[in-house]
Amino acid sequence: MQALVYTGTQTLVYREEKNPKVVNGESIVKVSASGICGSDMHAYHGNDNRRIPPLILGHEISGTINKGKFAGKKVILNPLITCGKCEYCTNNKEHLCNKRIILGMNKPIERQGGFAEYVSIPDKNIYELPKTLDIKEAPIAEPAAVALHAVELCEKNLINPLKESKALVIGAGAIGLLSGLILSKIKNCEEIVIVDPNTKRLKECSKYLNANTVEPNSKSILTDYFDVVFDTVGMEITRQQAIRSVKPGGVIIHIGLTQSSGFFDFRKTTLQEIIVVGTYCYTNKDFEKTLSILADKKIGSLDWIEYRELKNGSLAFKQIHDGSCSAPKIILLI
Ligand SMILES: [Zn+2]
Ligand SMILES: [Zn+2]
Repeated sequence: MQALVYTGTQTLVYREEKNPKVVNGESIVKVSASGICGSDMHAYHGNDNRRIPPLILGHEISGTINKGKFAGKKVILNPLITCGKCEYCTNNKEHLCNKRIILGMNKPIERQGGFAEYVSIPDKNIYELPKTLDIKEAPIAEPAAVALHAVELCEKNLINPLKESKALVIGAGAIGLLSGLILSKIKNCEEIVIVDPNTKRLKECSKYLNANTVEPNSKSILTDYFDVVFDTVGMEITRQQAIRSVKPGGVIIHIGLTQSSGFFDFRKTTLQEIIVVGTYCYTNKDFEKTLSILADKKIGSLDWIEYRELKNGSLAFKQIHDGSCSAPKIILLI
């Protein structure tokens, strides 16, 4: 099969690779579409010790079952593979399973990803594609499930309902935009500010999201003001913005994984009882709920997604890296 292989820092090569082997309890998917995630970008930059080259990246995948018990069906994959037996898996918190692994990772266990013609996946991770969801757009279900999980974790910790809360979203990539769309269109949140240094990307978001789109130095980002701040970037500087702008008793939802440490104002956290919530992936229930949200078109048009061919994937990575791409999400078509 042809695949886009991550071979070293900032290097991807489109080349011939071995087809995945048929494994008991798994199916082979003929991939139709595969989204580029922020975590694939971390790998590309050589900053991910769970993704070591050579490796086929990609975990936001739709396609058709080629071999296996659902042969011929159009599907969307939940790429988070878990043990099914531990205390997390048996308490609807599969995403915290000690043995969790995502497609397109090779540490501690190897699982080749979806930037290829074929990928193997356990049958329990396969969902039939809802009829109203385009197979090209379907990979957006994965980051949308991340955003839904984050928004609902936030909801549990807020003083006021989201409808009456003021939200700051840091980062206008796919997770930022999807969090904003879920806040606005599903939770009826009326006051949303979304911040990003990339003005082209902000302009694109403003076409779809009812929010104030601003650059990081904007005066609209008031101090001690927001009920909730979503940090979808996860850098020292964005965490500092989050803690500065959150109001007493407010919530910081930390989703980004860009920098793992740095200065943080724990004094304000303590004196103002700030709730800081880390969030990762989603539960199986979140994934199912996301599919029905997308099937019912509840977050509106997905025309902000840009499509490229898999064989040109290397250029897409490069343009996301240098900021010349304004789309919050690029999906590669195979
Ligand atoms: Zn992802
Ligand atoms: Zn488990």
